[in-house]
Amino acid sequence: MNFLEERIRKDGLVKPGNVLKVDSFLNHQMDINLLDEIGREFKRRFGDKHVTKVMTIEASGIGIACFVAKEFGVPMLFAKKSKSINIAGEMYVAEVESFTHQNKNQVIVSKKFLSPDDHLLIIDDFLANGCALQGMISLAESAGATVEGLGIVIEKGFQIGGRVIRNLGYDLESLAIIDAMDAETGTITFREQ
Ligand code: 5GP
Repeated sequence: MNFLEERIRKDGLVKPGNVLKVDSFLNHQMDINLLDEIGREFKRRFGDKHVTKVMTIEASGIGIACFVAKEFGVPMLFAKKSKSINIAGEMYVAEVESFTHQNKNQVIVSKKFLSPDDHLLIIDDFLANGCALQGMISLAESAGATVEGLGIVIEKGFQIGGRVIRNLGYDLESLAIIDAMDAETGTITFREQ
């Protein structure tokens, strides 16, 4: 069991509706030493890639992506959720369906910060159905940027996102993959990696 699986078992809470709460250490209160370790692990996995920017989506990816960007010595860029419709022109726009809030958001990045010269490492906290990753891939495509890889902290392997993104041919690495979880017993089963 790796450092992250151990922490998920200790402090993660399985909620009804296939939701894992990790808000005591990852996406509300944040354990900085754990984030440091996560940053180093993504550097170990993607260190041979040419990365010019780390990209994530607000809000819960931001803290994690900062630690990854520090390891690579590159800027971190986050896609913003926006309600404004009058943004075409200066912004690249994609539509993302939220797994946790079950609504649709437009996400945007400024054209100033994404260009065909960029080689992106895309980072997020969770992978469920893959909408957040697809939205970020779409923003990268709009800019003509290259997606070098995608790094996820916790993949829920029983949902379709991982399969969809890998089938598209992307290099997707997840630090922990959950194959099953049970809200009644609190049991979490990790995939052997
Ligand atoms: P997807 O777009 O892959 O369906 O869902 C990924 C996004 O939804 C992530 O950015 C994450 O914030 C949120 N998410 C999905 N599943 C969970 C979960 O089980 N727990 C938490 N805390 N967030 C989740």
